[in-house]
Amino acid sequence: MKVLIINCGSSSLKYQLLDMTNETLLAKGLVERIGIEGSAITHEKTGRKDKFTLATPMEDHNDAIRHVIQALLDKDHGVVSSMDEIGAVGHRVVHAGEMYSKSVLIDKSVIKALNDCADLAPLHNPPNITGIEACQAIMPGTPMAAVFDTAFHQTIPPEAYVYAIPYEYYEKYRIRRYGFHGTSHKYVAERTADILGVNIKDLKIITCHLGNGASVTAIKRGKSLDTSMGFTPLEGLVMGTRAGDLDTAIIQFLCEKEDMSLPEIMNVLNMESGVYGLSGVSSDFRDLEQAVEAGNERAALAVKVFAHRVRFYIGAYIAIMNGVDAIVFTAGLGENSAEVRAIICNELGNLGIKLDLVKNKVRGKESVISKDDSRVAILLIPTNEELMIARDTYKLVNKLKRNV
Ligand code: AMP
Repeated sequence: MKVLIINCGSSSLKYQLLDMTNETLLAKGLVERIGIEGSAITHEKTGRKDKFTLATPMEDHNDAIRHVIQALLDKDHGVVSSMDEIGAVGHRVVHAGEMYSKSVLIDKSVIKALNDCADLAPLHNPPNITGIEACQAIMPGTPMAAVFDTAFHQTIPPEAYVYAIPYEYYEKYRIRRYGFHGTSHKYVAERTADILGVNIKDLKIITCHLGNGASVTAIKRGKSLDTSMGFTPLEGLVMGTRAGDLDTAIIQFLCEKEDMSLPEIMNVLNMESGVYGLSGVSSDFRDLEQAVEAGNERAALAVKVFAHRVRFYIGAYIAIMNGVDAIVFTAGLGENSAEVRAIICNELGNLGIKLDLVKNKVRGKESVISKDDSRVAILLIPTNEELMIARDTYKLVNKLKRNV
């Protein structure tokens, strides 16, 4: 079965088509600037060097999906000869609130549940729903599944997910820690067990998803026990442009001193903070590393603050799990920056965590990068959220077919 994976943002759409008989990627692409001047699709067929690009007006997500299907059917760059070959569609959905702890087949009740929790993720859920509805309009007979970023973290116990604010706010509005990047944390934890040849139920793992958005998760016996992102993806680690943890009193202080409205402050905390705000250089660690080499002290400080917070969470999660067997680095920064991994793992020998600086000189390739005498295995595992979404979709659709 061929499964189409859709990840919809407000003005962009990423897609992949996978053949699930052997879990191979057939094609992938990106539609940008949907509904804005300059819409374009870039499509890549596996094994072909040149990309197919088309700049053409796309008014909405329906237009975008139509162009995705056309690219997949294209005589030259296409990978299917008819739309009927696409057996299922898997949608990445950011927030399921407390509704779903697993992926689900999409029906009307799922769409309603996602609409009901749209105010928990106002930037993410509405475009996710738009993407689902656009696909349903264009591929009405094709079964679809929703795979949630929050689902994996639904095993976090109450003592880790409630905030110490009046309990009625949890009861009234479901204000609690949800956690995100769940599909990625779950994928790399499962790969860790495979690579180490140990049953996941016998492992305590700390997974560090370090990308533009970043989070750390404590995983015991294959279940998420705590994670650094909270009610929204703003909490936790220092990120590209997000502040992460901070004293909430700063918000009122800044409102008064800078005469800013709440939405303006939230924009600062989401878009102008993190390593970008600290360094004044960039949110991208490639630029920061260059700036550090050129002697930029604020860029150096930003990298140190970032690494300090990751170390802080690693320590906390060792305490929460009463130990750790493996620490995993993934996502853009975690997979590519030997430098940042080295700063994070520096002088943790007393905790049994010893990075091998030679093995650490690797990028984007599954590897064990700890020293042979390190009690804790340190791994680099490229994440593959799309494959996880495809696997869940494939499983759900097969089950549906068996039950029909
Ligand atoms: P992601 O959100 O997972 O796509 O990660 C994107 C981020 O990864 C970028 O903003 C960079 O900070 C970081 N990154 C990607 N490639 C590299 C690299 N070669 N060296 C250092 N950082 C990188």
